[in-house]
Amino acid sequence: MSEIHSESHVTLVAGGAGFLGAHLCRRLLAQGHRVICMDSFLTGPRENVACMLDDARFMLIHHDIINPLPKGLRPTQIYNLACAASPRHYQADPIHTVRTCVQGALNLLELATASNARILQASTSEVYGGPQVHPQVEGYHGNVNPVGLRSCYDEGKRCAETLFTDYARQRHTSVKIARIFNTYGPGMAPDDGRVVSNFICQALAGEALTIYGDGSQTRSLCYVDDMIDGLVLLMNSPAGFQGPVNLGNTEEVSVLDIARRVCSLSPGCPQIEFQPLPSDDPVLRCPDIELAKRHLSWQPTVSLDEGLARTYAYFAGASCRVHEPT
Ligand code: NAD
Ligand code: UDP
Repeated sequence: MSEIHSESHVTLVAGGAGFLGAHLCRRLLAQGHRVICMDSFLTGPRENVACMLDDARFMLIHHDIINPLPKGLRPTQIYNLACAASPRHYQADPIHTVRTCVQGALNLLELATASNARILQASTSEVYGGPQVHPQVEGYHGNVNPVGLRSCYDEGKRCAETLFTDYARQRHTSVKIARIFNTYGPGMAPDDGRVVSNFICQALAGEALTIYGDGSQTRSLCYVDDMIDGLVLLMNSPAGFQGPVNLGNTEEVSVLDIARRVCSLSPGCPQIEFQPLPSDDPVLRCPDIELAKRHLSWQPTVSLDEGLARTYAYFAGASCRVHEPT
């Protein structure tokens, strides 16, 4: 492949056709970047980025990052968002999930090092596993089951953090690590199986909302625009700050509470149906974001009720399909 995008500021977004990736690509184009979106379309369809294909500054490469990367790429910044985020998807082929997290990270880190590019890893609150420290601070090393159904993702992401940190130490690669907590908003895949998309699509279809377990487990849900702000700020933060840094909303709510809030948006409040809790489902999750506030001057601005209303309006204009729990 010939040299791609030889201009000075070229941003590669691996996983750019996914939920967060497509939002990020749009944001980067709006900020004047040239963008290379690399995606295997495993969970993010080509349609997610179709609206950007007419932009001469946007290039789409169909590629699985576990394989050697195409030659000729010379990015100045790389965001590694490539990995299915939803349990139903990352558990469908767990070996591929580990390879994506580990071999994919290695391939991108080699490219970053060779190109002298800065690289940001989309890590996850899942590195804390079933946390015994609450809220979760970055210094907490987590409580992850290495052989559970979620391990392919949790341990893969933990290993990726190790690789990023060791490339910084050993090869002087410029790295940033974001620990992303649950994020939702317009553009989520309706069949992703995640709590917000499931509840809203169920409410719109007049179906019962499926609560796994008794609904007392908590999550802290961050609106997508806030998350993209945080990722871009982290990427452009001073070289001395590499993370890991938590990015997420501190408004912790139970799954039952999320169901109630979705009910209140729906003209006919739907029924609630309790189903078995998947194994290894974390009981609590809430970020401590003091580090992000201090180093990035970042904190979420969109309240849960406002974000849910916007997401509900988005899904009301789209067709929805809901899947059973994995
Ligand atoms: P998503 O599933 O919508 O997007 C992931 C994208 O990566 C998809 O377009 C998929 O096709 C692509 N992909 C997967 N494996 C690939 C591979 N081997 N090669 C190339 N492309 C591949 O997920 P998302 O919600 O947009 O999450 C993006 C990133 O953020 C993920 O790395 C995820 O782990 C992380 N994250 C997300 C959340 C969240 O709540 N959305 C929370 C924590 C971390
Ligand atoms: N959940 C639920 N009903 C659903 C989908 C999810 O009760 O239809 C629960 C799930 O068991 C978990 C929480 O909601 O406790 C968040 O699930 P999600 O898949 O969105 O994210 P994650 O578990 O990765 O935090």
